[in-house]
Amino acid sequence: MTSAGATPPEPAALSAATLLTPARRVAAVLNRAVAAGLVGEEQPVAGFLDTDGIRASVADLAAAFAHAPDVLHTFAVKAASLVPVLRLLAELGMGCEVASPGELRLALDAGVPPSRIVLDSPAKTRGEISEALALGVAVNADNLDELRRIDALRAGGSASVVGLRVNPQVGGGTIGAMSTATATSKFGVALRDPGARDRVVKAFAERPWLTRLHAHVGSQGCPLALMAEGVAETYRLAEEINRTLGTRQITSLDIGGGLPVNFDDDATRPAFADYTRALGTAVPDLFDGRYALVTEFGRSLLAKNGFIGARVEYVKEAGGRRIAVTHAGAQTATRTVLMPGAWPLRVGAFGADGSPRTGARLRQDIAGPCCFAGDVVAHGRELPELEEGDLVVLYDTGAYYFSTPWGYNSLPRPAVHGFTADPSGGVRLTTVRAAQTLDEIAAESGLAHAGALVSLGARTGATAPAPSTPRC
Ligand SMILES: *Cc1c(COP(=O)(O)O)cnc(C)c1O
Repeated sequence: MTSAGATPPEPAALSAATLLTPARRVAAVLNRAVAAGLVGEEQPVAGFLDTDGIRASVADLAAAFAHAPDVLHTFAVKAASLVPVLRLLAELGMGCEVASPGELRLALDAGVPPSRIVLDSPAKTRGEISEALALGVAVNADNLDELRRIDALRAGGSASVVGLRVNPQVGGGTIGAMSTATATSKFGVALRDPGARDRVVKAFAERPWLTRLHAHVGSQGCPLALMAEGVAETYRLAEEINRTLGTRQITSLDIGGGLPVNFDDDATRPAFADYTRALGTAVPDLFDGRYALVTEFGRSLLAKNGFIGARVEYVKEAGGRRIAVTHAGAQTATRTVLMPGAWPLRVGAFGADGSPRTGARLRQDIAGPCCFAGDVVAHGRELPELEEGDLVVLYDTGAYYFSTPWGYNSLPRPAVHGFTADPSGGVRLTTVRAAQTLDEIAAESGLAHAGALVSLGARTGATAPAPSTPRC
């Protein structure tokens, strides 16, 4: 338990009781990571993933849907596109939702069976569709033109479940960019547009192999009732189609992901069980086994199970404002820096050894290493005074943060470490992804083609210097 005020500073060795709070857990992990050289002067930023936390989140998800007779939980790979994460989730019985050839490759490399992979993307090429159909990966067509492509591509038959994504147009949440069920969203068949419902029914009538409806109403910022209403709309459409066709052709519903995450404190709120309750209210028959269910949660499984640790390189003052210049900026907290109003993060202050900083709080900007003025992850945050060499922690960044870095300024992708921290103080760490090296950055920045533009511009007979690398 944390208590305010007069408690003496924590001893370096963390006791069982102190480890029970997430803050103490983070401190224990940072402490070990510093000692192991995983974060500090040489490695100024790293991501950390709580393995036990991930297991607990998957268990919560499974328990919330335990009354559904047939459910496949897939993980939205974009939320944490790291092979060891996908492997762990597969061990725990989960499949993967993928939206690009890269994500499909990661899921396969992690050992996820194709029958437990779902391909959703608004821009699938014919090649991508063919590959998915050949592998037996489920495909959710985004629109009727894509269905026509599938007609041709699955002519020889396929083991893939094929579905159609619909946009129930139930409206948006608080973050426009995360709301996929607005009237004008780019995703799915817009169900309330004139004639759309009839076209969808006809599409199913013409294709006996089309057996699934898919809807993903939105992500962060969507209220549970809105998400549940989108699922209810989808359920009603499935019932209407099956009634019209006189057969239960639609056998499964893919209800997407999108459970929002609380970034304000340590509480997991809403819980998966809150969502299944909301679903049960909106669609009382959803869990009666009439339809097999597929889910595609991402952020709600991983966000609270990860954090970023970053070194404070300098502290300075400008215009009366105190600024800590750290190594965690837009390259690893992209959304927070570019849309600070929509994606605020909690920041923690720790000493160079990883112990929590105490002392009087003062307002500080927490800035990052990128060369643009807006690279600030928190403005005017009240924190114990930071000094050079201290560590800042960005909480709740296990999804869509360090796993999805931005290559701005040729800053390297930070390393990611998995950890367990048991109540007796034992911390175990393992590498999930190594930090990107300068050689890798150079290779990915066209090093093999270094002379390409010089060669292209060199005219025969001109007195330009000889290209430094052979022409290709
Ligand atoms: C992004 C996405 C998800 C996962 O959303 P979360 O908010 O991370 O749960 C699921 N399905 C589709 C189609 C998506 O685009």
